[in-house]
Amino acid sequence: MAPANSTGSAHSIRPVAVDDVDTWHLEADVVVAGYGIAGVSAAIEAARVGADVLVLERTSGWGGAAALAGGFIYLGGGTPLQKALGFEDTPENMKTFMMAALGPGADEEKITDYCNGSVEHYNWLVDNGVPFKESFYGQPGWETPFDDGLMYSGGENAAPFNAIAAQAPRGHVPQMSDKRTGEKGGGFMLMKPLVETAEKLGVRAEHDMRVQRLVVDGDRVVGIIAKRYGKEVAVRARTGVVLAMGSFAYNESMVESYAPRLIGRPGAAIEEHDGTAIRMAQALGADLAHMDASEVAFFGDPQLMVRGILVNGRGQRYVNEDTYPGRIGQETLLRNNNEAYLIIDEAAYDEGAGADSSTPFFRFRPKWVAETAAELESEMGLPEGTLQSTVEVYNRHAERGEDPVFGKKPEWVKPIGSPIAALDLRGFTAGFTLGGLRTSIQSEVLHVSGEPIPGLFAAGRCTAGVCAGGYASGTSLGDGSFYGRRAGISAAKG
Ligand SMILES: Cc1cc2nc3c(=O)[nH]c(=O)nc-3n(C[C@H](O)[C@H](O)[C@H](O)COP(=O)(O)OP(=O)(O)OC[C@H]3O[C@@H](n4cnc5c(N)ncnc54)[C@H](O)[C@@H]3O)c2cc1C
Repeated sequence: MAPANSTGSAHSIRPVAVDDVDTWHLEADVVVAGYGIAGVSAAIEAARVGADVLVLERTSGWGGAAALAGGFIYLGGGTPLQKALGFEDTPENMKTFMMAALGPGADEEKITDYCNGSVEHYNWLVDNGVPFKESFYGQPGWETPFDDGLMYSGGENAAPFNAIAAQAPRGHVPQMSDKRTGEKGGGFMLMKPLVETAEKLGVRAEHDMRVQRLVVDGDRVVGIIAKRYGKEVAVRARTGVVLAMGSFAYNESMVESYAPRLIGRPGAAIEEHDGTAIRMAQALGADLAHMDASEVAFFGDPQLMVRGILVNGRGQRYVNEDTYPGRIGQETLLRNNNEAYLIIDEAAYDEGAGADSSTPFFRFRPKWVAETAAELESEMGLPEGTLQSTVEVYNRHAERGEDPVFGKKPEWVKPIGSPIAALDLRGFTAGFTLGGLRTSIQSEVLHVSGEPIPGLFAAGRCTAGVCAGGYASGTSLGDGSFYGRRAGISAAKG
């Protein structure tokens, strides 16, 4: 095997000219690379418009990161589930939130399109067998610990966004009991019915196929070269190729070049997310977007965080603790040097530790405990006066149930008493990359000139989707399935 090159791959990603292909081993109208959420959505829609579809998957089964995922799908604008549970939302309201929370740099055309199509997309998922239970989970949390269908998943109900757009929960979760996120989460109940639908529509799948290069006829993509058990397999695509192979979170060299804050801390991704799709298309002149953007998970239990205050390495607060925990993750890793301490008193700790949680494994014990903020500050080694003044300012306003500094909601604002403790949450983050191929709203891969690359389509985390600077849980399965569908339809048209 050749050594890894500067792309981080151990094989060539250069395109192959069609004249150099002696034999096509496999053939279909639409060839989809990757059988995760974007791939299955593309396969279904391509088959529905009459295309013969072949999916090439590197592992020996379908699912990808999607099947391990918690299963949030970011949908809104007045979905039947939102309405049934009494929440009002419109596409315009959803767009206002997404433009504010997912930027800077969010793609307005994509977000507008996504919001306008969101109710139809919900109905499409339901029609294809994805179950959603009519129940809302309103507690702070990464996910619902139960099988509820709807939850806030992006900080819609917290400052500053609750003053920018009317709050509405948009984290739609497929119903599943005994979930184990990271093994078989709500995402499994998204993937399973979709794969069954694809199979019923006659979609074929070939496994253990590692897609490596594109085949071109002039500037048109007409096939794929994959490797299976050490042998090259040439696959002809009569109308189009869809790339749906996931992010570059596990490509160390790309992470180093584009999203260095994530070095050594890939999370909520799988090792197969090695950036190959991005590199293969780049070799044809594809444009990229938001390569520095990242989702960041924070290993803190929201039921504890919301009842305390988070401070950075200077003993200062930096975020409202009742917001989406992924926003806390971004603030911690990207803007506070990955340093966080949770300051909480004993009564609040006990109350939080007794509440429902989907992440009890994030309920760490305090590292330092003291009678006063001054003693705690000294034991933690923080500069004198820093933590004391933070606690003093917080408590002064908390006496009136207010947080004018960060706008935490009154229901969570209480003065911090004694004994007072600190949980050491430094370095407790991981994440995945959000940047990738620049695509049109028809999921065409765009050349650096702005023109589509003929025959090449893409969706999912190998593309730049609806997120840029910010993130909301559900946007990856959301834009992956939404633009996966578009990719399938476009690829079938050719
Ligand atoms: C524990 C966990 C929790 C998560 N929770 C959520 C959530 O609640 N909501 C949300 O929106 N997102 C969530 N995510 C993220 C989300 O699952 C992914 O971002 C999403 O699945 C990306 O979709 P995709 O189609 O691009 O990639 P995937 O779903 O990973 O599919 C890509 C497929 O391509 C295959 N592949 C890769 N390289 C090749 C190759 N060379 N040849 C052939 N096949 C290849 C992979 O094996 C994989 O099957 C979570 C992820 C994890 C792991």
